[in-house]
Amino acid sequence: MSFSELGLSNKIIAILNNEKYLKPFPIQKQAIPQILDGKDILGVAPTGSGKTAAFVLPVLMNLEKNRAEKNRHIDVLVLVPTRELAIQINDVFQVFGRGVSFPFKSQAVYGGASINPQMKALSGVNVLIATPGRLLDLVRSNAVHFSSVSCLILDEADKILNLGFKKEVDEIFKLLPIRRQNLLFSATLSPEVQKMEKLILSNPSVIEIKVETEDLSLIEQTGYFVKPEKKGPLLRYLILKEDWQQVLVFTSSTYQADLVADKLRKNGVEAEAMHSKKSQGKRKQALADFKSGALRVLVATDLLSRGIDIEFLPYVINYELPRSPKDFVHRIGRTGRAENAGKAITLITEEDKHHFRVIQKKMKRWVTMIDSENLDLNSI
Ligand code: AMP
Repeated sequence: MSFSELGLSNKIIAILNNEKYLKPFPIQKQAIPQILDGKDILGVAPTGSGKTAAFVLPVLMNLEKNRAEKNRHIDVLVLVPTRELAIQINDVFQVFGRGVSFPFKSQAVYGGASINPQMKALSGVNVLIATPGRLLDLVRSNAVHFSSVSCLILDEADKILNLGFKKEVDEIFKLLPIRRQNLLFSATLSPEVQKMEKLILSNPSVIEIKVETEDLSLIEQTGYFVKPEKKGPLLRYLILKEDWQQVLVFTSSTYQADLVADKLRKNGVEAEAMHSKKSQGKRKQALADFKSGALRVLVATDLLSRGIDIEFLPYVINYELPRSPKDFVHRIGRTGRAENAGKAITLITEEDKHHFRVIQKKMKRWVTMIDSENLDLNSI
């Protein structure tokens, strides 16, 4: 199935091609036609499943037909748990918003940043992507009105609730018009999420995307015990000693990704960080260079790892452990394919030992460990 069969406009299809979204992901196949039809959706899907485009594309198409066009009266509200996710979703709206026939505007608002520029920016906004606390501040200041909201989207609903935003979210629900489309996405279906689902969704279409089970038997896994301050030298040692090319390194934060890439470059290893705070252009360039072999090391966070659509990666290095065992399996999953046995390396500090045992137990594989104290890291 192709995107052109899903009921999207030619202009949107052209941007999809340009963005190298060649085929719809499963959640997109299922969600796009139903959202275009005006249905409520419960999407149980992990980060990285392509859920952002699954709602952004049909929501933009629906706006072609139905908009308030009253200043500060938004049409679509997207509630998210974090600033990072707000920015990321806004980026996707910006990219595909070029494909509609009216002057489209989306805006991300979140706490931890000054409120005045956000207030000013709310003029003429169609789609507002917001964290709950900051949104209520803006409502109270009359900077935004909800009476024309025709579509509410909750993304990562489980995380919104885990972060303790329940009271704020309930307050926001009360302010919204009763007749509206509701799209709720969550990685898990906790009892709290189910309660929320019952509250806001009417006769929803349930779309559940399972994380694929990877065949881990083809992956050669090694763990290295290392002191935190020796992680950088060990990373360089591993890459340079065996002359590894096309190495994907994972960190748990955008900050660390930048730091690790900087350090590698300073030591003469071509490296770039790829994460949500980089512009779309920079991310695309880094990925293209990585694929062509011009860039030796790509340092990424889990959030963007799905966007790295490379069939087979020879080397994956976990510079830091992900919190969830599922993310761990997903990270290393692309190194073992058919006749290609890739290598997955994991750096483990004293603090990580317990968590790594949990991960190994979950993936039902025990990883050979090497103590990096026995390596001469200065020998390269
Ligand atoms: P998400 O789950 O929405 O955060 O998407 C994860 C990543 O997959 C993002 O980097 C998207 O750019 C990318 N992506 C989403 N849909 C597609 C698609 N159909 N083809 C290729 N990449 C996609």
